[in-house]
Amino acid sequence: MKIKRKIIKACMAILFLSIIDISAQEVEIMSEQVKKHLYTLASDTMEGRKVGTEGIEKAAQYIESEFKKLGLKPFQGAKDYRQTFSKGGMELSNIIGVLEGSSKKKEWVVVSAHYDHLGILKAVKGDSIANGADDDASGVTAVLTLAKYWKKRGGNKRSIVFIAFTGEEKGLWGSTYFGSQGNAENCIAGINIEMIGKDSKFGPKTAFLTGYERSDFGKIIQKNLKGTDYTLHPDPYKKFNLFYRSDNASLARLGVPAHTFSTCPIDKDRYYHTVDDEVETLEIKTITNTIKAIAIGTESIILGKDTPTRVTLESSTSAH
Ligand SMILES: [Zn+2]
Repeated sequence: MKIKRKIIKACMAILFLSIIDISAQEVEIMSEQVKKHLYTLASDTMEGRKVGTEGIEKAAQYIESEFKKLGLKPFQGAKDYRQTFSKGGMELSNIIGVLEGSSKKKEWVVVSAHYDHLGILKAVKGDSIANGADDDASGVTAVLTLAKYWKKRGGNKRSIVFIAFTGEEKGLWGSTYFGSQGNAENCIAGINIEMIGKDSKFGPKTAFLTGYERSDFGKIIQKNLKGTDYTLHPDPYKKFNLFYRSDNASLARLGVPAHTFSTCPIDKDRYYHTVDDEVETLEIKTITNTIKAIAIGTESIILGKDTPTRVTLESSTSAH
């Protein structure tokens, strides 16, 4: 009897693991996609993706074409994937594609990264293009790869709203505009991805989450990653104020549990915001492993099983 029970238990564990884990073959496919998206978005032809340039327009069109291939729907009945607004004398667009949920369609999980960067800077050794490979072509690569993953996997009860934000480098312009459109109530969670191309200070197969203590979002991710070889840690760079420095902040200010996943060793990263942020300085493996961990880690939220608590912000009158 006892042995039988043990065998049944073991079988169930194997079954359970095979449901939550992503197969090796799938990871192989993922890593091919990662390479393609990353090299395209960070290529010199995109000229550093500065807002208002032809280069960023090329990036926008690439993201649109990928959304179209996957059959994602435009956001809230829009005619296409662009959410366009004017700022700083320019016309700018967030690129938004939706994979509708089955039974909880009105509950959105936002998966985002910014596709703009700094453009052309002062030349260093003849190179003047700030390609922004890590910042944040790696994040947009994750958004596109996760969109493909969920399209194929299906079963999302909640709608997944995939967004490539514009104007982040200008001061979170695109995400601020998105938040201003009265969407916060629908947003169950915000999964923002910034700079995931280098191993974090915690080692390979680790990432950190900004604003970890502000909701139980991070705890849900850690629970879902239990039993895998990937771990998520609270942001170790408190001084850098990263929680407010990326697009998650625009939704978090409205109460949405919106956090940023990153692996960037920001205190040591010499290439941050320089012309040397090139694909050659990144590890495809690190990006792929992190995307896989985000897929597994956020699954229960997308499936409608877990709902993170709303974000709490310190009051503005609190002492420093
Ligand atoms: Zn960035």
